[in-house]
Amino acid sequence: MGETRERSVIDRSVAEDPFSEPPYITELRRKVAAVCHQFPDSYWRDLDARRVYPEAFVAALTAGGWLNVLIPTEYGGGGLGITEAAAILEEINRQGANAGPAHAQMYIMGTLLRYGTKEQKERYLPGIASGEIRLQAFGVTEPDAGSDTTSITTTATRHGDVFVIRGRKIYISRVQHSDLMLLLARTAPRDGQKPTAGLSVFLIDLRAASDRVRCRPLRMMMNNETNEVEIDDLEVPAENLVGIEGEGFRHIIDGWNAERILIAGECVGDGRWFIERASRYATDRVVFGRPIGSNQGVQFPIASAHAHLESADLIRRRAAARFDAGLPCGPEANMAKYLAVEASWAAANACVDTFGGHGFNAEHDVERKFRETRLYRVAPISNNLILAYIGHRVLGMPRSY
Ligand SMILES: Cc1cc2nc3c(=O)[nH]c(=O)nc-3n(C[C@H](O)[C@H](O)[C@H](O)COP(=O)(O)OP(=O)(O)OC[C@H]3O[C@@H](n4cnc5c(N)ncnc54)[C@H](O)[C@@H]3O)c2cc1C
Repeated sequence: MGETRERSVIDRSVAEDPFSEPPYITELRRKVAAVCHQFPDSYWRDLDARRVYPEAFVAALTAGGWLNVLIPTEYGGGGLGITEAAAILEEINRQGANAGPAHAQMYIMGTLLRYGTKEQKERYLPGIASGEIRLQAFGVTEPDAGSDTTSITTTATRHGDVFVIRGRKIYISRVQHSDLMLLLARTAPRDGQKPTAGLSVFLIDLRAASDRVRCRPLRMMMNNETNEVEIDDLEVPAENLVGIEGEGFRHIIDGWNAERILIAGECVGDGRWFIERASRYATDRVVFGRPIGSNQGVQFPIASAHAHLESADLIRRRAAARFDAGLPCGPEANMAKYLAVEASWAAANACVDTFGGHGFNAEHDVERKFRETRLYRVAPISNNLILAYIGHRVLGMPRSY
């Protein structure tokens, strides 16, 4: 080019890191952490042993306004985005708590906000925002339809002004601690040519449905209130149909990117908890006259998990920024979920190994968090299906389903 350029006079050593977290999010974390500090490890340990729902913790989060951030301010919510919501869930898990008992409202809020009628929003959102009513249950999975959602057989049949719902769901969380449930049912038989058609979403008021919705609690690996749910000719007013009849699958999958970003946030939080505990213990614990962390066999798995976690966090934040800007974010959201889950799982294993026998002792909380973070490799969507999305939708390879 022959053109001589003047050397830059910008001092890059003080230029702002474009990837650093904005101060208002750091402040938000500090406030969420303050709520979590009221519920020490012993609180979670006790509830885990007894498989009891963390009612007081969820009430404190609700009172602080931390669960309504995705609800627009006109309905009394926080009016924030997925970036902030993911940071809240991350901070909860990072403090040793578990966002699981309260995250569903954030996961599914998008479906209600995007497809709910004005009347539905005015009727339900202010109560959800204030904490008066809870929307914490989401009924999709069935005994014969897990990953393959379009195979569900729960039916909703229209009779005048009501739909009559009948079917069986499994692994439906928080039903007994929720007032409302978003439910996916078939309103038309499965069409082999277009299996995603004929599904519809309903907002079920569980308070008015108790004799028609029977729950059988299931004891899971972690303290997660999960049920087999039998729905027996439940009449639901047609006005509780969310969105367009027959297009429920599209309405649900529209919320999947948000869900994946939020899960990534929770896993980054779990991963940070494991890495902090493991590196502290590795520094303090002395065996053969030296801290175990000076052995590379102990130190490197922790360092490696940290490196993976930081990269997962970056793509999680990018996915969230794209989501909040209204940009397509399917690849980023899926990769963030995959990477954060794997990084958290690697951190969990490194932490158990570092703690040795203490890693298996409930008194150290590591085994509890280990069980909790394991879930995210399988539910609400398995990492296999995430890889299938990346292989098929991003890289154009043949699909397996
Ligand atoms: C604690 C807990 C809470 C839950 N809460 C809820 C809830 O509130 N609401 C709800 O609706 N559901 C809930 N679920 C269900 C959860 O969403 C499902 O378990 C999950 O979607 C997987 O479905 P499945 O268990 O039927 O597995 P399946 O679909 O039977 O899959 C089994 C295995 O096969 C693999 N697999 C299947 N197909 C493919 C393929 N094409 N390529 C590669 N691998 C494949 C999967 O990855 C998985 O590892 C919960 C589950 C758990 C464990």
